Amino acid sequence: MAKDKTKGEILQEKLARKPQSSGIKMSEQEIAKAFDFCEGYKKFLDAGKTERECAQWAVELLREKGYTPFDPAKAYKPGDKIYLLNRGRALIFAAIGKRPLGDGVKIIASHIDSPRIDLKQSPLYEEAQLAMFKTHYYGGIRKYQWVAMPLALHGVIVKKDGQVVNVTIGEDASEPVFCINDLLPHLAKEQDKRTLAEGIKGEELNVLVGSLPFKDDKVSEKVKLNILRLLSEKYDIIEEDFLSAELCLVPAWGARDIGLDRSMVGAYGHDDRVCAYTSLMACLEADTPAYTWVNVLADKEEAGSDGNTGLASRFLENFICALAAGQKLDGHRVIEKSECLSADVSGAFDPTFPEVNDKRNSCYVGYGAVMSKYTGSRGKAGTSDANAEFVGKIRALFAEHGVDWQASELGKVDAGGGGTVAKFIANLGADVVDVGVPVLSMHSPLEIVGKTDVYSAYKGFLAFVDQS
Ligand code: MN
Ligand code: MN
Repeated sequence: MAKDKTKGEILQEKLARKPQSSGIKMSEQEIAKAFDFCEGYKKFLDAGKTERECAQWAVELLREKGYTPFDPAKAYKPGDKIYLLNRGRALIFAAIGKRPLGDGVKIIASHIDSPRIDLKQSPLYEEAQLAMFKTHYYGGIRKYQWVAMPLALHGVIVKKDGQVVNVTIGEDASEPVFCINDLLPHLAKEQDKRTLAEGIKGEELNVLVGSLPFKDDKVSEKVKLNILRLLSEKYDIIEEDFLSAELCLVPAWGARDIGLDRSMVGAYGHDDRVCAYTSLMACLEADTPAYTWVNVLADKEEAGSDGNTGLASRFLENFICALAAGQKLDGHRVIEKSECLSADVSGAFDPTFPEVNDKRNSCYVGYGAVMSKYTGSRGKAGTSDANAEFVGKIRALFAEHGVDWQASELGKVDAGGGGTVAKFIANLGADVVDVGVPVLSMHSPLEIVGKTDVYSAYKGFLAFVDQS
């Protein structure tokens, strides 16, 4: 016979919050589903290492599923499925719901740009019989993490006649890769005295491109000339074409399982392709919704969201306004009635570096999706602090759909901080809260996520866009 519970035990059960437990809460079958889901996710990661590649991948899938290019002059009706590609770098897609647009739309906003190393506009030079690229890093990288590792070159070169040349070198095992060199320890006595942030400086992120000279005594810079010759043969370009190019270096490796239990995925670009993929899959699952949903895969988040493909611009607002105009509605009234999950990752608690987090308000790998009421820095500056009412609504929705989730903020108060696109959409008047996936080694060339957390995010996004 069970012993009677003490008064304290009864009170504790009734009043105290149960500790956040790990993803083991999922059944064995659901864990298997999560693992299976991540097989598709890994393919997406390998296919899309730039925002352009991710957008293109998504557009091809959307076309297969019957989505058509958005026409602002058209009046859309329930069941219609549309997409709008913004300059090849950002994407909006939507499914028109059965409810009137005046009830508001459900927005999920993630970003498909990731920190990386961009080439400068005049990148190619030769010194000491080595051909090199000058670079300018993109987003918040820790520069020392990007040296002495294989890098692949991705991007586009636009020629004078407007022709766009797509470039990918270093992804296939038969292709060469590139790298940024570091100093040998034997001669690093002075470099070792630098701070970690200055260990490798911005202007030291120079990329090794070649060493074989073009054999002709009449010309100078023979190694560089030989590289230009090879580029001309492969892409029919001249050096001047670098002026109108977007080329970047990203880790040349593919997504891999991490750990003996294969419970995690290590890859470049989880931030924020993990939310792009999970929200995309959730939306495709809910393609005849009650409420119209709008999914935006944004660019430029890692550089502050400025620019015409970033969410500080008006491209999302303009899209919803055009959609509303088609139904003779005021788009801004529609936005004010709308709700948004700002889908972005958060930094997971790392037992090696516990000091940067408040362990009671941190997120953990394996505990599920992560919801952050606010991000920002210092006294909650630079963030949208979500309304308690809206957080309460999402909390109830996740409980109803069995979504494992955890509440978290990014690091200790005043330890640093960060932000997402939430504030830009909140500034338009919609209710917004951050929901995403915890990431270890965030912004590094090898970021890590837990498979069950990825699946929990997918479940959460599905519950959100599939509301009746
Ligand atoms: Mn992010
Ligand atoms: Mn980021």
